[in-house]
Amino acid sequence: MNAFGNNANHDGKIRELAQLTSGIPASDGEGVRLTRIVGSPEINMVDPFLLLDAFESDRPDDYIGGFPDHPHRGFETVTYLLAGRMRHKDNAGHEGVIEPGGVQWMTAGRGIVHSEMPEQEKGLLQGFQLWVNLPAAAKMTAPAYQEFPASVIPGEKLETGGTIKVIAGRTDNGTEGPVKNAYTDPLYLDVQLEPGETVHQHIPQSHGGFLYVVKGGIQVGQTGAVLNDRSLGVLGDGEQLHLSSGAEGGRVLVIAGKRLNEPVARGGPFVMNTKQEVLKAFQDYQQGRF
Ligand code: MN
Repeated sequence: MNAFGNNANHDGKIRELAQLTSGIPASDGEGVRLTRIVGSPEINMVDPFLLLDAFESDRPDDYIGGFPDHPHRGFETVTYLLAGRMRHKDNAGHEGVIEPGGVQWMTAGRGIVHSEMPEQEKGLLQGFQLWVNLPAAAKMTAPAYQEFPASVIPGEKLETGGTIKVIAGRTDNGTEGPVKNAYTDPLYLDVQLEPGETVHQHIPQSHGGFLYVVKGGIQVGQTGAVLNDRSLGVLGDGEQLHLSSGAEGGRVLVIAGKRLNEPVARGGPFVMNTKQEVLKAFQDYQQGRF
């Protein structure tokens, strides 16, 4: 037990980087330029994560078209904004604006149709969209939202000066994120380190995950392999994550979740277990059953 009363487990194998990528340039929605980091030919998925897109531009032409009405079924979409504002609106009357530092964790479940549009005509728009798979038993669950502005996302101050913003899961020091999710028990941390800082974080063996460096450089594991600016590193097996920053500090997203180990059938905005279920999703959508 530590001072926070939780059993942070410091034993176990240290995770190393298993695969690196900087993603591929892509366009989605109405001409939004982005980098597809997971969900590309290079890294198809990191169970339970189906996709990670990064968008970052101060040129309106790169984002102004947004993502007009489109459906989702069978998984969750997580939008985390660093800069700019996005308005979302769905066919059930749910609407809101995501602001810098805010997160929207949407459980699409059996289906929603929504739009995600920039709420700005100029300036920087920067953020991430992550797709988290749902287990077979929950793919047709009712749609649900968890939405939190920056003000309610806790920032754990490290003794050495850095900050860990906790969106989901719990740090080794017991700081807990506002997003609750029993499907994949996710960990989503935004770790900002001063030069030469070190952080340890328990990630259960059951979880798959990755790191994405937003800024600077991060050394990972016992090997101290360096993950550079705007690169993703898939985490290998183990239970402990050891991160250190170099001379310039760094900012890294730590994302992990319980592996589902189920068959995945993808069809654009629908992700089910079988091709049959994907075809059914297209039919249901075309016949207005979302
Ligand atoms: Mn969407």
